[in-house]
Order: sequence, then C-alpha cells, then structure tokens
Amino acid sequence: MNLPFTRDELATIAQIYPTPFYVYDAAGIRAAARALQQAFAWAPNFRQYFALKATPNPHILRLLADVGCGADCSSLAELALAERAGLRGGLVMFSSNNTPAEEFVAARHLGALINLDDVGLLDDLERHAGLPEFLSFRLNPGPALAGNTIIGRPEESKFGATREQLLAGYAAARDRGVRRFGLHAMVVSNERATAAHAATARLLFELALELQAKLGITIALINLGGGIGIPYRPDEIPADLPAIGAAVQAVYRELFGEHGPALATECGRLITGPHGYLVTRVRHLKQTYRNYAGLDASMHNLMRPAMYGAYHHITVPGKEHLPARAVYDVVGSLCENNDKFAIARALPPLAPGDLVVIHDAGAHGHAMGFSYNGKLRSAELLRESDGSVRLIRRAERLADLFATLED
Ligand SMILES: *Cc1c(COP(=O)(O)O)cnc(C)c1O
Repeated sequence: MNLPFTRDELATIAQIYPTPFYVYDAAGIRAAARALQQAFAWAPNFRQYFALKATPNPHILRLLADVGCGADCSSLAELALAERAGLRGGLVMFSSNNTPAEEFVAARHLGALINLDDVGLLDDLERHAGLPEFLSFRLNPGPALAGNTIIGRPEESKFGATREQLLAGYAAARDRGVRRFGLHAMVVSNERATAAHAATARLLFELALELQAKLGITIALINLGGGIGIPYRPDEIPADLPAIGAAVQAVYRELFGEHGPALATECGRLITGPHGYLVTRVRHLKQTYRNYAGLDASMHNLMRPAMYGAYHHITVPGKEHLPARAVYDVVGSLCENNDKFAIARALPPLAPGDLVVIHDAGAHGHAMGFSYNGKLRSAELLRESDGSVRLIRRAERLADLFATLED
C-alpha cells in the first residue's frame, strides 16, 4: 500500500505537529468523489451526499462541496457542520432516526431534504417544523434482502420502515400536501460486490414504480444509500465503481426507460476511508508472553480494530523494504485489553521513535474518538496535492477535557 507522502515529508510534518495525528490526502478524496460521480454520470441529476459521520470536519466537506458533493447528515451537530461549510437546501440530506424535534426544526431551517426513518415521524415533523414540499422515506426491506456483516440482517436492523408502512406513509404525506417524494434504503455496509448494490437499486426502483402506480405520486429522487466498501487488506480489491454504475444503469433502463427519477448516493467510507492516515510513533517495546509494540496512539484515536475486529494495514515509513520478520501485538496505552491496533502482525523490527502509519483511517477514525482514561483526541491535517499541509482541527488539550467540570 503506497503512501501519498514520502518518509522525509512525514518526518518534517511530525516535527511541526507532534504524533499522533491524522493526515488526509485532499487529492485522493477529490479523486474518489469524482470516480463515483463518473460512474453515475448517466443518471439524471445525480448527486453524492458525503455521509458526514465518517469524517465530520467542515474543511473536508468544503473540499467535497467544491467538486459538487452535498452532505448527508444525521444529527444536530452534523447539520450545524454542513451549515458551517456553507451547504444548505438541496445540498443537505437529513437521514436521521429516532429523531428529536429540534433536529427537524434545524433541518427545515436549512431547507434540507428530509428522509424519514419511520412513518410515525411524519406527525412529529408536521407538528414541530411543518411539512416540506419534498419528503423522503427510508425503506427497511426485511427478508427481501440479505444485508451484510457490519449492518446485519435488515430484519434485525433498527433502521427504516416496512413496505406496507411506506405505502400508508406516502399516502398520508400526499394527503397533507407533500408534492414530491424521495425513497431511500441503506442495506449494506463496506460492501465491494457490484451485485449487492445493483440489488438495492432494483428493490428501490421497483418499489418506486409501485408507489407511483398505486398512489399517483411522483418519486423524484431515489437515494441508493452509502455502503460501498473499500479494501482494508492488501490482498482485497477495490469496488469496481464503473461496474456498479453500469449495473445500476441497466436496472434503471429496464424499469424506467429514458425518463426516471434523479439518483443520489450517500457514501462516506468510500470517499475518505483510504485517504486518511493515523500517524503515530513507537513509544515502548515490551516482551512478556507476547511481543508488544506500544504506540503513542491508542484505541481512542481509532477504535475500529477494537470495536469490529477490523483490519487496518500498518506500515513503517523508511522500513518498508526490510523483511517483516518480527511479530507484534500493536497496542496503545488505555487500561483496556482490547486497546490493540493489530494482533500478531508481522512487521519489520521496530525501535522506539519509529514513525508508524495506520492506513485506511479516513472514515470512522477520528470521528469515533473518545476521551476515556482522559485521553486527548488528536489533530487532523489536510495535505494538498502540492505537498502543503494545513491544520484543520487542533489536538485537544487537558483544558478541553475539563471544560465541562463544575467548580
Ligand atoms: C453511515 C451511513 C451512510 C454512509 O455509510 P458508508 O458505509 O460510510 O458509505 C450513509 N447513509 C446513512 C443513513 C448512514 O447511516
């Protein structure tokens, strides 16, 4: 796995910004967004809405807005970040669940496209914020689709409404004056297989036709969700975006012909995942019953390995060409035994002070950080293609941690 920066460049950055820190590769993020847009260039009014929860930083959002992406938000803070990045109206998708009233108010204030997770929320939305002219609902297909590992089986997923509920929900919204409709599902997560994404599209397209025929409404926008996967392991292959676009296009042509609804996606991981790196240093080596490499980062910086047993590739810049003949449990300094970035990982022999890069940390990395054990969350840096590096979030300080304590 290649880095977009050299070992010397990284060492220079690390002299200015102490490790650990995240660095994002702006060119890679832009290219990922463009590749997705290109795969769906055939679709009417296609728009990718970046799922903000993956990397909730307005600087990343701004960079994506500059190449035509919107924001997919699911909380008050995410709506506020979208606003801060200058996004509003049709550039903001609000796909929440178990939604508090104030979030509906904020979403309406921004003019966001609102996507309801439950038909019962129609009343809440109307009462607290009024019904918009456009409204979308989220489908949970239940046994009609198999789902996959991170998200689980749709029948056991808390998200979305059943087909029967949707028929009633769209009819109720139509009768209360909503004019144009959207339809959404997000059934898979980190899925690289073309067929899975084509299956979601077919299910949504067929349901859209049925809703239009039965209820006399217009489904103006179909949101295919996110969930396009990335290769975390060196032997995995990336999702074939042109093939996914073509497979969805074939279903679209078959069911809608030349004129059908606009399409949207709300990918997060695909856009930033491979283009963010957690840069850390070896602090301390220890040998007991196992061989430990202790880093200056801990699972509060990146909890995917501890939470999902997720694999993250690890490289040691400057030692790439040495044989990986040492085997380490790569750990942090939290008082939790699952505070491990890798277990029994073959690496070149390490020494304290070595820079270590944890790959594919650009999505659900810094975002899932926490402050257990009084750990501070790291800085985030953005590297432009000319090599310049910009601080887009400073590292936390102890004072931040104590800011909420009462005297
Ligand atoms: C998490 C999420 C996404 C993005 O998922 P990725 O796997 O990052 O593409 C999109 N939509 C909703 C509603 C989500 O919760």
